[in-house]
Amino acid sequence: MSIRTVTVYAASSQALDPVYIDAATRLGTALARQGYRIVYGGGGHGLMGAMADAALDSGAEVHGIIPEFLTRVEQGHQGLTSLEVVADMRTRKARMLEGSDAVITLPGGCGTFEELFEAMTLKRLGQFLGPIVLVNTRDYYRALLEFLRHSVAEHFMSQTHLDLWQTVAEPEAVPAALEQSRPWSARAALNTAAVQPRR
Ligand code: AMP
Repeated sequence: MSIRTVTVYAASSQALDPVYIDAATRLGTALARQGYRIVYGGGGHGLMGAMADAALDSGAEVHGIIPEFLTRVEQGHQGLTSLEVVADMRTRKARMLEGSDAVITLPGGCGTFEELFEAMTLKRLGQFLGPIVLVNTRDYYRALLEFLRHSVAEHFMSQTHLDLWQTVAEPEAVPAALEQSRPWSARAALNTAAVQPRR
């Protein structure tokens, strides 16, 4: 696949174990080395900030998108290539995916989950076709991945939906996972329909 712009979802928390900060930093460096343009939530804290700092240090173009109300609580990252202020969270979420070739999800909380699940849902329905890669640092997403498999086992999702995302243990594995990802477009139409009745 030809990947140019990647969207990164990541934690805002500043209370994390250094192992997560390290993974976010290494992701920023790995994406910059690959020459990707990065779009993310525009925050200066947590894994978002660590990823953006490292990417900028390594020469990447980093575009932040932040809703207006958040700029009143926190400034947003001040050293970005560009920082876009939008009306609200919904607009931000849509803008973060516009023109994006791929989604990368670092560990995070409910904000990250929501963004990830929206990307998965849009892909399931053929509205976003790019790779979705979860960086599973310290097996953080184990329970979530288990629950998604449970959802398939209980027929809320189908077996093909397990191909909506890929996981990698180390951030350095992200570029290869993106470049080797199989195109989803052919399967998108099939998956647009609801899970079919069991025979
Ligand atoms: P969470 O994982 O709950 O910390 O949420 C992080 C995700 O939601 C990021 O990918 C951002 O797009 C968005 N977000 C949540 N809180 C903030 C914040 N304080 N500053 C910037 N973006 C945020």
